[in-house]
Amino acid sequence: MRQTPFPTHTDSCAQPCESANNSRRVFMLAVVAGGTALAASRVAAQGAAKLEETDPQAVALGYKADASKVDAAKYPQHQATQMCNGCNFFQGKPSDAMAPCTLFAGKQVSGKGWCSAWAKKA
Ligand code: SF4
Repeated sequence: MRQTPFPTHTDSCAQPCESANNSRRVFMLAVVAGGTALAASRVAAQGAAKLEETDPQAVALGYKADASKVDAAKYPQHQATQMCNGCNFFQGKPSDAMAPCTLFAGKQVSGKGWCSAWAKKA
């Protein structure tokens, strides 16, 4: 017979299935703890430092917190409609003023920003 990680109650149980109840309790605690850790990581991401335009990686990618300030001569591919909040690497909602970016780990970028790695949100 195949064993499951959590004993199940069957009609053949003469006693209350305490072991099954304990397993379920542990499972539910793990689920709650996992959810709490996920929420905490989101809060930590939201509290991350803002990306400065002087950051070496930001300079290398021509990042500007205000997309209207992008050097058009250096980045002729930039279009006025391209902003971080419409980029595939932007981790927030389109309406978020700031959000983490996959390319700049541990930093938040401006929703109205832009860099040369911009890629239309899929
Ligand atoms: S990769 Fe996208 S979201 Fe990140 S800074 Fe560049 S344009 Fe903004």
